[in-house]
Amino acid sequence: MGGRYMGMLTVAGVAARPGEVARGVMPVGSFADGTPLEIPFILVNGAGDGPTVYVEAACHGSEINGLEVIRRLVTEELDPAKLKGRFILVPVANVVAFTHRQGHTPFDNENMNRVWPGKAQGRMSERMAYALWENAIKQANYLIDLHTGNSTLVTHVVFMGGEQSSRELAEVFGVEVLLQEEKDPDWQGSRFAGKLRNSADGAGIPAICPELGGNSKFEKVRIEQGLRGVLNVAKHLGMIPGSPVLPKKQWVVSQGHLTQVKVACGGAALFEVTGGDMVRTGDLICRVYSIRDFAVLEEVRAPMDGMIIMVAENPVLHTGDMAAMMGKVTGQVDHQS
Ligand SMILES: [Zn+2]
Repeated sequence: MGGRYMGMLTVAGVAARPGEVARGVMPVGSFADGTPLEIPFILVNGAGDGPTVYVEAACHGSEINGLEVIRRLVTEELDPAKLKGRFILVPVANVVAFTHRQGHTPFDNENMNRVWPGKAQGRMSERMAYALWENAIKQANYLIDLHTGNSTLVTHVVFMGGEQSSRELAEVFGVEVLLQEEKDPDWQGSRFAGKLRNSADGAGIPAICPELGGNSKFEKVRIEQGLRGVLNVAKHLGMIPGSPVLPKKQWVVSQGHLTQVKVACGGAALFEVTGGDMVRTGDLICRVYSIRDFAVLEEVRAPMDGMIIMVAENPVLHTGDMAAMMGKVTGQVDHQS
């Protein structure tokens, strides 16, 4: 008798037998000129029994470090003959925004990561989400949604507080910062339930969202962190040999404890810190100087003890702009062997 996962892996009519890699496209519709709107995917069906892991990148079209993570996973790391379990891989989920080199979908001006699990009769973003959800995500046992944000952003993994299996997945991904989302009143009033990670949690699929550096560029260190993270998850689930490579310590930051540190004066900012730095109350974050006489207009200082999550990527700031995002560390995980 086979295990509970064994057998053919079929997505949108494309099948991979155990031990095979298959590639295909998921039809969604078409553009005005008749060009098909379709989403490419790759199936890696291991010869051995194991779970199905869904990994996608570029749900926000400009967040492309994850595309490189998936390319390297397929071309350098995974061997279907040795793999136990299956990967469904979508290197570019929002092909429309990707083509336009932007985050949101141009034709419906939608944030595709607020519309999951999509709608069959919806607008373009909702239909792309629906196609991915119905054809691929529903079959998954675990989900990794690769994003980026800003080149100064500390590499971290977002998970939903209270979802224990998602928290476990976040820990084994193995980056140093775990950002815990919480369903507070702000969350309830937003469209955050429509994030892929939250839709997956709601459907019983443990899910994480790694945030790997900045948009619209390939960043080697972030790509390597992402690749190691996906391989860590595969090791943890017994899909490939070995144990996850984990840092000695991981910091838990709660999303409810994020604080934006803003500037009072407009000008140009010289930063003393970047994402990942730990600071104490009163530590210097940046100096804002006047472009008229180069006088220092303001020294922006940390309002609390905590971690710098990111600083403004563009140092040209107006009154009220965010200079830095800080987070309060609410827990830590030790992995000393
Ligand atoms: Zn994103």
